[in-house]
Amino acid sequence: MLVLEYKVKAKKLQYLAIEEAIKTTQFIRNKCLPYWIDAPKDAKIDRFALNKYSTELRNEFKFVANLNSMAVQASAERAWLAISRFYNNCQQKIAGKKGYPRFQHDNRSVEYKTSGWQLNSTKRRITMTDKKGIGELKLLGKWDIQTYPVKSIKRVRLVRRADGYYCQFCIDVEVKDIQPLTGNEIGLDVGLESFYTDSNGHQEANPKFLRKVEKSVKHAQRSIYKKEKGSSGRKKASAIFARKHLRISRQRNEHALGIARHVCKSNDLVAYENLQVRNLLRNHCLAKSIADASWYLFRQWIEYFAGKFGRLAVAVAPHYTSQKCSSCGAVVKKSLSTRTHVCSCGCKLHRDENAAINILNLAKARDGQSQSHAVGVGVTTLVGENLLAQILT
Ligand SMILES: [Zn+2]
Repeated sequence: MLVLEYKVKAKKLQYLAIEEAIKTTQFIRNKCLPYWIDAPKDAKIDRFALNKYSTELRNEFKFVANLNSMAVQASAERAWLAISRFYNNCQQKIAGKKGYPRFQHDNRSVEYKTSGWQLNSTKRRITMTDKKGIGELKLLGKWDIQTYPVKSIKRVRLVRRADGYYCQFCIDVEVKDIQPLTGNEIGLDVGLESFYTDSNGHQEANPKFLRKVEKSVKHAQRSIYKKEKGSSGRKKASAIFARKHLRISRQRNEHALGIARHVCKSNDLVAYENLQVRNLLRNHCLAKSIADASWYLFRQWIEYFAGKFGRLAVAVAPHYTSQKCSSCGAVVKKSLSTRTHVCSCGCKLHRDENAAINILNLAKARDGQSQSHAVGVGVTTLVGENLLAQILT
C-alpha cells in the first residue's frame, strides 16, 4: 500500500464542509460503541453487525445519510477496530489495562473508499460527490495521481492538520524492490544514549537538530499556559505550538525513514526487541518517551523496508537481553547505570552492544515472538498515518 498525500486548497465553506464530514465520522464511530456495550448478551456484535447498524443511522439522521455510504461504513469499521483491539488484548492476557474502547473527541479525518469521489481526468483536482457539499478540491503536491489507475485507489482520506487540510490516497501497488543478498545480519538495541546500538558496535547518534527543535516546541507549549484561557493570544499560541509540533514530527519521520532504509538495504536480517508500545508510552520520563516514540516509528519503517527489499525483520522477546553475556550465556546482573558489560569469560563490551548481539542471536535461533515480512496492510496502514512523501524511492 502506497500513500500519496496532497495539501488541499479550497474555499472557506468547503473547509467547513470537510469539518462537518469529519464530525459525522466521529458521530458514527461513537454511536457504535453504546450499541456494542448495550447489546443483549446473546447478540453477536461483529463488524457486520456494526455495518448494519450504520445503515440504521443513515435512516435516522439526515446528516449521516448525506455522507457517502462507504464512508459511513468506514466510520463503523473504526469502532470495530477499537473493539477488536480490546478483544485481542483480553485474549492475549496482556497485563494491566486492556484498552477498553473510549469515545472519541478529537477525530481529525474522514475516510472514503472507492466511491463518493471523482478525480478530474486532466487537472490535479478531486470532487467529493456525496451530499456533504465539499465539492471540488485543488490538490497541491508534486506527485502525479493520474499515473495510477483509479481502480488501484482503495481509500481517499481527508485529514485536518495544524497547518490545513490534506488529501491522502491509499494506492494498492506492490512496491517491491528486492535487493541482492548482502550476507550481513544485524541486531538493534535502543536506548537513551543513542538512537540505537547495533551488534557490530556501531552507535547511531540521536540527531542534534531534533533536540534543538524539541526545545523550541517546549517553549511554545509553555507560552500557551501563560496566556489567559479563551483569549485570542492563547489561541494564537496554541496554533504556533501545533505547527511546530507538526514540523518536528515530520522531521523525526524523515530521520527514521532514512536510517531504516539504510539498515534494511545493507542487511539480510534485522533483529530488534518486540517492545510493547502501550508500556512505552506510559513512561513518565519525557526524554524516554520521546525516544520510545521515535523508536516505534523507526520500527515501522524497518518493517516496511524489510518487506520492500525482501529482507527478514524479526522482533524478539525483550527478556534478559541486557543481562545475559552474549559470548557465554551467563547472566551478568547490572543496574541501568552500568554502561559496560564485563563477564568472567573475558567478554567485555558496551552494555548496548552486548544487548544487540543477544537480540541478533535470539532472532537467528528464531526465538522471536513475531516475525514480520512486513508489507501486510496492518503495518503499512500504520506507516501511512504519518506518511508524508511518496516512498517509492
Ligand atoms: Zn561471558
